[in-house]
Amino acid sequence: QKPMYEHRSAFHMYSSGKVPLGLKRKGLRIVVTGGAGFVGSHLVDRLMERGDSVIVVDNFFTGRKENVMHHFGNPRFELIRHDVVEPLLLEVDQIYHLACPASPVHYKFNPVKTIKTNVVGTLNMLGLAKRVGARFLLTSTSEVYGDPLQHPQVETYWGNVNPIGVRSCYDEGKRTAETLTMDYHRGAGVEVRIARIFNTYGPRMCIDDGRVVSNFVAQALRKEPMTVYGDGKQTRSFQYVSDLVEGLMRLMEGEHVGPFNLGNPGEFTMLELAGVVRETIDPDAKIEYKPNTEDDPHKRKPDITKAKELLGWQPKVELRKGLPLMVSDFRKRIFGDHKEGGA
Ligand code: NAD
Ligand code: UDP
Ligand code: UDP
Repeated sequence: QKPMYEHRSAFHMYSSGKVPLGLKRKGLRIVVTGGAGFVGSHLVDRLMERGDSVIVVDNFFTGRKENVMHHFGNPRFELIRHDVVEPLLLEVDQIYHLACPASPVHYKFNPVKTIKTNVVGTLNMLGLAKRVGARFLLTSTSEVYGDPLQHPQVETYWGNVNPIGVRSCYDEGKRTAETLTMDYHRGAGVEVRIARIFNTYGPRMCIDDGRVVSNFVAQALRKEPMTVYGDGKQTRSFQYVSDLVEGLMRLMEGEHVGPFNLGNPGEFTMLELAGVVRETIDPDAKIEYKPNTEDDPHKRKPDITKAKELLGWQPKVELRKGLPLMVSDFRKRIFGDHKEGGA
């Protein structure tokens, strides 16, 4: 029987207080899967800023090199084109596992691939964490609550998920990923963390990924009508990306496994969101109603009591503050010298 943690990393020395006081904190070696994507690239920026060495593992399905290009040439940064469905050997202290398409349009594009990414991809990264004694953080989702019958959603709620619907590849995939994470924790002693992320927006979102904030902003900028699906009375809670990244890092560095809801409790109907986009971009922006998609959750709002108490975290950026930051990024990418899709 091999000892559980034969690999003593800088991280374990640091977190166990074995680094003598006064000694400068040694940078960690961190893998970010999906690090070329929207959330991942913002996380990578913060980790690089902190002085860590970062390896981004990404297959570029929805991610873009442009999102991390500003780190090229830095010896602490590495970018590997790799699909997490295939095994991977690396020596690291921490794994932030984000690889998975997040927008419904992208995750429904090849549902079987989405399940493989969530199940086999997560299994591989947990196997890696077990082998090298790294701490592993899973980015799960509010979709594990399905079309929730409890509002707002608390972490103890088990959810209302359709196992055979068009969203199942994503929400059941993430539920299985959570199960695997807990089983590696209980069975193999892997240090794990689980975040359940609620709708997040900000600069570097794919312009045409079909999510509601990116759609409305791009449509209003292009003077096209904003497409409201259904009656527009369904709700979501929108979190600015810097708040999420802060929450993920606190979770990774803290002592609690989770799961933790990470989201902004400010709840908006899609019609209210359209109103905020009008205020921000164009008071004359029109609305066009379209049929809603199948299995669309009616309400979503996080209860973040647990993250407040145990991580000392809560979002700081309200929708009316965060939206303009995203709009200026979209404006540059849609109308700037860069071709569309470039960062
Ligand atoms: P994104 O699509 O921008 O990023 C996902 C990244 O993973 C992309 O760079 C993509 O190329 C990469 N990827 C996908 N499949 C892969 C594979 N098989 N192997 C290697 N790389 C792969 O999405 P995002 O919004 O940045 O989401 C990041 C994570 O956060 C995802 O796991 C998502 O499920 C979770 N999440 C996001 C939100 C949100 O609102 N943005 C909400 C809940 C959960
Ligand atoms: N794995 C990996 N990198 C590693 C260690 C494991 O990709 O550094 C993969 C491995 O190929 C396997 C999965 O992770 O498919 C689970 O590994 P584990 O050792 O837990 O299980 P086993 O290999 O015994 O099935
Ligand atoms: N939606 C909309 N217009 C759009 C895109 C989405 O009204 O152009 C609605 C969609 O029906 C859902 C909500 O906005 O009720 C959030 O959808 P999104 O795809 O952004 O994320 P989800 O929370 O469903 O994963």
